Amino acid sequence: MYLIADWRRSHYSKDVIPEMDGQEVTLMGWVHSIRALGKLAFVILRDRAGTIQAVVPKQKVDEETFEIAKKLGKEDIVAIKGKVVANEKAPKGFEVIPIEIRVLNKADAPLPLDPSEKVSAEIDTRLDKRFLDIRRPKIQAIFKIRSEMLKSIRKTFADEGFIEVNTPKLVASATEGGTELFPISYFEKEAFLGQSPQLYKQMMMAGGFDKVFEIAQIFRAEEHNTRRHLNEAISIDSEMSFVNEKDAMAMLEKVVYNCYSDIEYNRPNEIELLELNWEIPEKTFDKVTYTEAIDIAIAKGVEIEWGEDLSRAAERAVGDEMGGLYFITEWPTQTRPFYTLPHKHDNKVCKAFDLMYKELEISSGAQRVHKYDLLVQNISNMGLNPDSFETYLEAFKYGMPPHAGWGLGADRFAMVLTAQDNIRECVLFPRDRQRLTP
Ligand code: ATP
Ligand code: MG
Repeated sequence: MYLIADWRRSHYSKDVIPEMDGQEVTLMGWVHSIRALGKLAFVILRDRAGTIQAVVPKQKVDEETFEIAKKLGKEDIVAIKGKVVANEKAPKGFEVIPIEIRVLNKADAPLPLDPSEKVSAEIDTRLDKRFLDIRRPKIQAIFKIRSEMLKSIRKTFADEGFIEVNTPKLVASATEGGTELFPISYFEKEAFLGQSPQLYKQMMMAGGFDKVFEIAQIFRAEEHNTRRHLNEAISIDSEMSFVNEKDAMAMLEKVVYNCYSDIEYNRPNEIELLELNWEIPEKTFDKVTYTEAIDIAIAKGVEIEWGEDLSRAAERAVGDEMGGLYFITEWPTQTRPFYTLPHKHDNKVCKAFDLMYKELEISSGAQRVHKYDLLVQNISNMGLNPDSFETYLEAFKYGMPPHAGWGLGADRFAMVLTAQDNIRECVLFPRDRQRLTP
């Protein structure tokens, strides 16, 4: 076995073309498959860009190279220095004939999961062997699109003048009450894993940043295993000052729209590989009020009363009617957290919205309460103790502008973009009630 301090990859598989006839290339990657037929061996090498075939004819390469080629095993790590030879009969119009093959690392056999196999294993097996699972081009495509999504979102925030912030994930009290929290021991005290950066991003409005965003972990002790909940998720949070909930919705539309157009432009191969029915949405999304949504659900036979949070059945009914991306606005105040601003004309309804994709909630947002007295009153009304929010509440006493914002679930949005129906498909190492490793 060699180290290859003096070798560097010259091309990814997809960058080699027949026009390079006669040129020397250095390829590096995994042995996707190997076929040896007496005097001829075919090695398919896989890298993150795809696969490429090396043809090893016994009489055209030196003896050692032929012997190495014949003994290659699936998923061995190899470096192949070879010559591109145009050949109309070859699958891509050329073949690579090795000059030298170096085995950089052997892979044990048998493989616990075979990345070259077409049939896909159970999701649990795949997640247990995620490093192997990720080698499948279709799985990689999901994460390439997810990466493009995050890149696009950061770009939109930057273009719109947002400041990226980082807030603590070790916190002393709950954001919205005591539920759904993971307690941890913090020296002599009890602490929690943060379930949302909500209170911190609001404090940054008092800090005078005007527009902030954060992309970070949120932790929720969701007890039930569903296809759309994890215990650790990534939230894309934004908050803006001197605006209302409509401005926050417009910003969210911009972020989502740009993701579709950036991914279409930068990831066409992944869209094709995943056979996505790709459609760039309109620049503004449909809107229904909560009251209209309830009427839709009732008309479709769902039992629900005004004032309740939407049940799964109600979400399905409304999703059925509305199709792709749409907002649900004007929620009953009692269904939303204490920091949501009620309407002046009717305080039973508040300036909250959810962004939905069919039956899936992907974002929640609102214009927030910016008056100290109302906030204290709301906290008490929800049965919480204002004293435990002291450091947050202080920010509202000395110059807090009106503000609005939202949290967009990165994993959920990735599900929508890649048309997956299980959130675990879009998270490298998902955390759920059963899964804490790898
Ligand atoms: P749901 O009602 O679907 O459980 P939620 O209303 O409790 O979600 P929010 O507190 O509004 O969630 O969080 C904002 C966004 O963060 C959600 O719209 C969703 O995209 C994402 N999110 C929240 N909880 C989770 C979770 N447990 N797993 C994955 N994403 C989540
Ligand atoms: Mg929500």
